[in-house]
Amino acid sequence: MRGPWRDVAAIRAQFQAGTFLGVAIDRAHPLLLERLAAADAYLQQRFAGLSPDQIRRHLRVTPRFGVLRGGGSYHAKGWAIDINYDTNPWVGGQAADLPDRLGGRLSGLSPADRARRQELEAAQNRRNDEALAIIWRAAWLTGRGETYSTAEMTARRGTDTTEQIWAHATAVSSELHDYLAARADPARIEAWLAGAPTIPAMATRPLPRRPRHSHANQADPGGAFAAPLHEELRTATAAQWRAQIEDDYRTYASRGSNFERTGAGARTSMTVTDHHLELVRALRDAGGLAWGASDIEGEQAGDFMHFDTRTIAACASYMASHRGERG
Ligand SMILES: [Zn+2]
Repeated sequence: MRGPWRDVAAIRAQFQAGTFLGVAIDRAHPLLLERLAAADAYLQQRFAGLSPDQIRRHLRVTPRFGVLRGGGSYHAKGWAIDINYDTNPWVGGQAADLPDRLGGRLSGLSPADRARRQELEAAQNRRNDEALAIIWRAAWLTGRGETYSTAEMTARRGTDTTEQIWAHATAVSSELHDYLAARADPARIEAWLAGAPTIPAMATRPLPRRPRHSHANQADPGGAFAAPLHEELRTATAAQWRAQIEDDYRTYASRGSNFERTGAGARTSMTVTDHHLELVRALRDAGGLAWGASDIEGEQAGDFMHFDTRTIAACASYMASHRGERG
């Protein structure tokens, strides 16, 4: 089944204007707009008596969506929407940003271009692993143990409700925020090391489960999950942890990091996600859209701002049969 469209031009020819939460969307595919309308209808019922704009404010949704962006993707077909992208980065599964001449099938590239592309992809995989490693250290030091990986999020799709997936993502976000914020709060770091009634002191606290490495770093002993790094941290003082947090904050805020590249805004939010539960329910359960945090295949997951129509068979089969298409 190839879907009813011959090519991307046939999809674009169907674009229409629409709205979501009272915000105009200039051009998008009607399949996305219909799903957004279903999400709107759910929210109207859930918050009866409020106008779309009042609901939007209550859910803290910024009136600025990303729909048509990026070649070769669901976005380019008007099938995806990015919401609150300053505070909901793509954490862990980002693809490398490739210039057009390096796109398409790997076998179609010259040896030099192929090497260049593999270099860019390896660098992006390292940034993906760095992002996961920062969250892993946050889980360990804060004692909350909410480890995060793209594979683990994708697995939740089969077992968890939207509320459970959202609750985990929100807990990860809060733990990351508190960890990065502690770079200016030595007393808090001391308290984390000492433990709490329900959390063993650092010296006896078990290591949180380690996320799987990205493909590129699976055999890299110097990668973000190298054992010696964590051996050192096991007996680190509060001052040493503070230096680690400062280092992690620099990575977080640096140009090109996973958090910075997709917004992560003024780089002050230090969040993974701040989506309201009812927003995610409306889009995922009532609208039937895929959420990039948990509903995207394999290593591409972790895109918290992103919702798309891959749940519609015609869209998914079109994408599967047009891989490498740049339009
Ligand atoms: Zn997106």
